Amino acid sequence: MPATFGQALLRGIRGRCPRCERGGLFRKWLKPLERCPVCALDLTPQRADDFPAYIAMIVTGHLMAPLIIMLSLDFELGPVAMMAILVPLALVMMLGMLQPAKGGVIALQWWFGMHGFVKERLPEDTSEP
Ligand SMILES: [Zn+2]
Repeated sequence: MPATFGQALLRGIRGRCPRCERGGLFRKWLKPLERCPVCALDLTPQRADDFPAYIAMIVTGHLMAPLIIMLSLDFELGPVAMMAILVPLALVMMLGMLQPAKGGVIALQWWFGMHGFVKERLPEDTSEP
């Protein structure tokens, strides 16, 4: 069991089961398994949908912006040359981010017990040590 949301999220981003970390999350690239092969966590309630794509686009945009500014300031590149560099780079970055983004979204949904996921984490420990 992850102790914190950050830990669960990190496991998802790395494509691991957010509950046990030992099992994988994906059958194919963006195809999640139906359940974790190690701890049998049911993964079918996940509803990541298009959300990972938005995350990947936003993150790519933020990473690309300084690069675009740098390229337009530092190099004598024409618009065609710039696009030839930036478009493939943006695509690669976006595609590379899709699976981690999806894993993160699934981990988030599991952690907060969204959709069909059962909120499994223990209630906050308020007792004195
Ligand atoms: Zn697991």
